Amino acid sequence: MKDFTYLSHPRRVLFASGARRSLGDELDRLGITHPLILTTPHQENAVDDLTEGLMGRNWSQFSGAAMHTPIEVTKEALRSYEKSSADGVVSIGGGSTIGLGKALAVRQGCAHISLPTTYSGSEMTDILGETDGGQKVTRRDAKIRPDTVIYDVDLTLGLPVGLSGLSGINAMAHAVEALYAPDANPVSDLMALEAIGVLAEALPKLADAPRDADIRAQLFYGSWLCGLCLDSAAMSLHHKICHTLGGSFDLPHAETHTVMLPHSLAYNAPAIAPVMARLTSVLGADPAQAIFDLSGRLGAPRALSDLGMPESGIGKAAQVALKSPYANPRPLEEAALSAMLTRAWHGEAPQ
Ligand code: NAD
Repeated sequence: MKDFTYLSHPRRVLFASGARRSLGDELDRLGITHPLILTTPHQENAVDDLTEGLMGRNWSQFSGAAMHTPIEVTKEALRSYEKSSADGVVSIGGGSTIGLGKALAVRQGCAHISLPTTYSGSEMTDILGETDGGQKVTRRDAKIRPDTVIYDVDLTLGLPVGLSGLSGINAMAHAVEALYAPDANPVSDLMALEAIGVLAEALPKLADAPRDADIRAQLFYGSWLCGLCLDSAAMSLHHKICHTLGGSFDLPHAETHTVMLPHSLAYNAPAIAPVMARLTSVLGADPAQAIFDLSGRLGAPRALSDLGMPESGIGKAAQVALKSPYANPRPLEEAALSAMLTRAWHGEAPQ
């Protein structure tokens, strides 16, 4: 058995249908008397789901959360926080809203309760990516982790099937990379394999039963584990290349992860035989092909060209991926990376 170091981080997690109604108790537990509730403009009405949990309390709302946590939005939310004399934040939404909650909580030193409504896994991590002048800067700090996470499956029943598939494969990417991370440990391995198996089984069932609470609970459970994997293990080629593609060509986050995951796994496959063997137990004989097929069944995009990336950008993306050094099981070679990106650009099967 491989040597390992294991760290665990205390967090309070409530997982139940209707758990949002406990928001009041959780606010009391953290000593929050006036929360600022954060949403995106699209989910402005999500506060209606919190009516019971907020009954008889003072609260304010900021509904400007946006993808990649732009610094101008954070500044506006901070003004709203101060103006309303808030003393804590509640984020209800996907990774974008949770990102804003983290940005505010870390600056104010206040408590943060998160109610996720997608499968991004951000609610479990100490990672905050913020955009300033078009540059995305990512940092890690224990203070960034939300204090309490309320997984109420009811909040995900309306997540469109297409978005659910993309979000689910985005989550799966955290677990896949955790399996070959330099700091992988037996606990993260267990969580990763369980999460990948659960997601691969539940995602295809969604199209026929998008409001099925059991399927949705499985997906939430899987994405929780994936978030824990992302929090505990260092990410490699897949996350770096998605970051590069997103930053260089303004490609959408979950879609880019979905297109790239089969290809980055296939790239690393020759260097991770034991991990591939474990993955076959949950994904079948050819794990990279199985993820590619899963995207196809979900109707998700499978080509970088479909996401708006120019073909002329392939060389640049390969070079950027080579520039910043990071741990990866297979050495990074420009020609092999370009070949991988070319296949992904055309939407071809992974090799
Ligand atoms: P998102 O939060 O941007 O949400 C996408 C859209 O879906 C938004 O308009 C949102 O309002 C809407 N939406 C969310 N939940 C919904 C629901 N239940 N029903 C209907 N509409 C809903 O997308 P995301 O994929 O959850 O998050 C992506 C962002 O999260 C990126 O900025 C990414 O960098 C970040 N992220 C961060 C981490 C981390 O650990 N820091 C991890 C994963 C993702």
